[in-house]
Amino acid sequence: NAPAIAIVGRPNVGKSTLFNRLTGRRTALVSDMPGLTRDRRDGVADFGSHTVRIIDTAGLEEAGAGSIESRMREQSQRAIELADVVLFVIDARDGVTEADKAFAQIVRRSGRPTILVANKCEGRAGQDGFFEGFELGLGAPVPISAEHGEGIADLVDDVMSAL
Ligand code: GDP
Ligand code: MG
Repeated sequence: NAPAIAIVGRPNVGKSTLFNRLTGRRTALVSDMPGLTRDRRDGVADFGSHTVRIIDTAGLEEAGAGSIESRMREQSQRAIELADVVLFVIDARDGVTEADKAFAQIVRRSGRPTILVANKCEGRAGQDGFFEGFELGLGAPVPISAEHGEGIADLVDDVMSAL
């Protein structure tokens, strides 16, 4: 059984971009579960000698019952429960938001091995937000740029160490 890596975080931080970067877009839409998980995406990636499953989460674009917050929490919680390692992504250009703090609480409570990922760290615009990441109580953020492919090798190393 391949270990599962879940990518969670509030909308627009770059989760799907990171998913595509890690999987090389070798993805499959998960269609067997309606509702909340309709647009959850499963993919595979080769991390060195290990094949891992990558789970992207979204769900917020889907119409349905419940507040956005409760649905976000439910979908993320399900992915976190399936995960051997959680990648909790923040947007270093935005800095830490209230939604990030709420997510951090969910992730911490899960007790799952978690790597805090500060995305959009290319250039200087992400510097302040990167340092704000320390406030989340999840250790040092790992700076990456999912879009530009920066920091990905170090992130993969950290995931391997956490497995
Ligand atoms: P998601 O909602 O968390 O899945 O975020 P997406 O992957 O859809 O990305 C949201 C937006 O952030 C898109 O416009 C991306 O192009 C942009 N984005 C993703 N990664 C990066 C990055 O590393 N740097 C910058 N500057 N933008 C990024
Ligand atoms: Mg997405």
